[in-house]
Amino acid sequence: MKALNLHGIGDLRYEDVPMPQRKAGEVLLKIRAVGICGSDIPRVFEKGTYHFPTIVGHEFAGEIVEAENSNLIGRRAAVFPLLPCGKCEACRTEHYAQCSHYDYYGSRRDGAMAEYLAVKEKNLCLLPEGVSYEEAAMSEPAAVAIHAFRKSGVGAGDTLLIYGIGTIGLILAQWARTAGVKNIVLVGRTDDKVEFAKNLGFPLAVNARKDDLRKLVEELTSGQGASACIEGTGKSEPWKSCISCARPHGTVVSMGNPVGEMRLSQDDYWKILRKELHLAGTWNSSFDSRENDWSEAVMAMQEKRLELKSLITHTFSLDEYETAFSLMRERREMYCKVMFVM
Ligand SMILES: [Zn+2]
Ligand SMILES: [Zn+2]
Repeated sequence: MKALNLHGIGDLRYEDVPMPQRKAGEVLLKIRAVGICGSDIPRVFEKGTYHFPTIVGHEFAGEIVEAENSNLIGRRAAVFPLLPCGKCEACRTEHYAQCSHYDYYGSRRDGAMAEYLAVKEKNLCLLPEGVSYEEAAMSEPAAVAIHAFRKSGVGAGDTLLIYGIGTIGLILAQWARTAGVKNIVLVGRTDDKVEFAKNLGFPLAVNARKDDLRKLVEELTSGQGASACIEGTGKSEPWKSCISCARPHGTVVSMGNPVGEMRLSQDDYWKILRKELHLAGTWNSSFDSRENDWSEAVMAMQEKRLELKSLITHTFSLDEYETAFSLMRERREMYCKVMFVM
């Protein structure tokens, strides 16, 4: 079969690889859509995977073509990409994202930028009627967004600031809207992203380089500040803005993977103390019996509470990978979700 195989940093090849062999407890999935995650860019071009070669791709959906349980054949599914060890304390309490010895499709082991992938049956998130493969391939960012939203603690009537207008930020905004959040402030750093967010129905999208964010939040909240701010960029300046825009006793959720040192001035640090802010981290998503961000995500897609098709700006076939990856890496034009469709 054909696959995008990473042989070394910056050495991604579209090539023939052996068909994956399904083991006990696994199904064989014919991949139908796989997104390029923002994290795939540094993975391919800067940091590499845990060993080489590795087939990349962890945001995907497909059709089950082989399974022990014959009822599964022909079913469509998204896949939770994290494979927990099943032995550690985190696994015993079903906090799989905190597993100390996990495996991962598309980074620690082969992923889905390929025609087929054998995946654990336990990791399947079966799709309800009416959810397309393209939408389902966004279950991972959707589950991450839902997970972060839980941490924010906001609800109807509140003001939520989301720093970062990317796929996850926009899904968060859609999710917040269905939860009745009154003011959804989306913060970007380029006009085209701000325009994109406005066109999706978020009039409070602003450009941090031009607009006075703090003033806007104060106007919206009679000087109180935002109930919660979610930092999605992993940079110090946005983190500072989140801390200064949060209201007293508000919440600041750190979600973005840090791109370097995260620094606060003494003044900003004081704000955490004086406002008694709640600082929360969010990591990955829940996929367990108590809380399952994935089933929530696909249900919301079916009920059109999440409208994810509008976030897909570019689709490619797998052999067009050079164009697809360079589009994101070089930011040649505005993009939101870039996806391979097979
Ligand atoms: Zn991802
Ligand atoms: Zn574990």
